[in-house]
Amino acid sequence: MIHHTCDRCKRLLDPTEDLRYVVKMEAFAVMEPVKLGDVEDDRDHLLEVHEILEQLDQQGTSGISEHLFQKLRYDLCSDCHRKFIKDPLGHKSTGQFDFSPN
Ligand SMILES: [Zn+2]
Repeated sequence: MIHHTCDRCKRLLDPTEDLRYVVKMEAFAVMEPVKLGDVEDDRDHLLEVHEILEQLDQQGTSGISEHLFQKLRYDLCSDCHRKFIKDPLGHKSTGQFDFSPN
């Protein structure tokens, strides 16, 4: 049987009792177009960059593209999931394990 632990509070999740939330994040570098007066082109350009990065990802060039593109995956318990959704970038809490009662 596969046991999962919460990646935030390290609590062991019991599959028969605990809901497990999977959080997937993608962080990728975006190069903004420098041309002046060409703002409408923005969207296509972003799409293009994303496509290039996807191709890089498929080719498995992990070492090179690591700084440009990262895929992250976390298992969270319901408590940590709730806190994550409220504050995904950790602005409100000073530390990762700062669990102040609400
Ligand atoms: Zn947790």
